[in-house]
Amino acid sequence: MSHTPPKNIVIIGGGIVGVSTAYFLSKHPNLLSTMSFDLHKKLADDFGGKENWGYRAVDTLSVETDATTKSKKSPPVPWLPHHVVSSRTLGTVASTAQVHPGKFTKFFSEKFLSQPNTSLLLGTATALASSNGSVESVLVSPRDGGAETVVPADAVVIAAGPWTGKLAIDLLGKDIGGKLGVEGHRAHSIVLKTKEELTPHCLFTSMTMEDGSMAEPECYTRPDGTTYICGAGDNEPLPATAAEIAPSPSAIAKLYKQAASLSPVFDPANGATTQAEQACYLPIPDRGRPLIGKVRGLDGVYVGSGLSCWGITQGPGTGLCLAELLVDGKVTSADITKLAP
Ligand SMILES: Cc1cc2nc3c(=O)[nH]c(=O)nc-3n(C[C@H](O)[C@H](O)[C@H](O)COP(=O)(O)OP(=O)(O)OC[C@H]3O[C@@H](n4cnc5c(N)ncnc54)[C@H](O)[C@@H]3O)c2cc1C
Repeated sequence: MSHTPPKNIVIIGGGIVGVSTAYFLSKHPNLLSTMSFDLHKKLADDFGGKENWGYRAVDTLSVETDATTKSKKSPPVPWLPHHVVSSRTLGTVASTAQVHPGKFTKFFSEKFLSQPNTSLLLGTATALASSNGSVESVLVSPRDGGAETVVPADAVVIAAGPWTGKLAIDLLGKDIGGKLGVEGHRAHSIVLKTKEELTPHCLFTSMTMEDGSMAEPECYTRPDGTTYICGAGDNEPLPATAAEIAPSPSAIAKLYKQAASLSPVFDPANGATTQAEQACYLPIPDRGRPLIGKVRGLDGVYVGSGLSCWGITQGPGTGLCLAELLVDGKVTSADITKLAP
């Protein structure tokens, strides 16, 4: 069966999945023949990822600490104190790497917009119109408060992260949209600038704190001399828009305490300063696996969502698969048949 590529494609969502889909669509078919498992590395090599979005290979460890005892073990990382009771390598510089997600997304948004026949409308998609079983347009409420805009479309990609489930019902109704269940789970993070530059490490911790309580923050040192520390999840419902997300002061306080217990380098008394205190929502799929592909029930609608805690890793690959599906009618870079919505 022949496949006619759509001409007016609307992507709802400017996170890593939406931006990656937009970028690969704008470059298609040039990148199609140069697909690779290590897409992040290839993008970094091609576009100065080291300078532009902090791409670098790292060692990744699972670390168990107990602040109530002094271990005889020497710490696996020089800036960890002497209460590491065990550690295990999860990945090395040959198999794990990091990016600054905000810088990555900004870089590829700009790259996408530098391609011909592309545009960006900042706002919220609120409705979708169809005719004879095919999508026709999307209604967008602009962020600047202007009049609602009808954007003609013969393909729409829903890449709305944790908002996907609710948005799919708003756009497609319960019968079709109700099958795209993705919800949000809030987590917190702080970004600290340390006095000394730390070694390139990502740590997944299991900590016994000084008072005997348990904590499991993740800790990612960055090449700009800052460290991203995250965890402290809770059940706060997803707000209507990303702009309304606010961190809980008590969750942020918990992260500061955990950071200082993990290493003295994160203690303000030792010169650590705050760069950011923030929250974000993980896109959790109801069915336990991501949804990537063509939505059944209305022609021209696609979804790329529900990547849970793996979206930074899998976002570019998801974008490439969706770009292939939209333009060629089939995905050849990875087997995503089990992820069909
Ligand atoms: C604390 C924390 C740590 C993490 N660590 C890692 C990690 O180490 N490795 C990893 O791989 N992943 C990690 N993740 C997961 C990763 O961040 C997510 O899976 C990923 O960012 C999801 O990307 P997305 O593009 O699907 O969604 P999002 O980034 O949420 O983007 C969705 C976008 O859609 C927009 N949108 C929603 N509704 C509408 C609408 N109606 N109209 C227009 N736009 C709309 C939103 O404003 C948003 O910009 C972590 C997540 C958290 C919270």
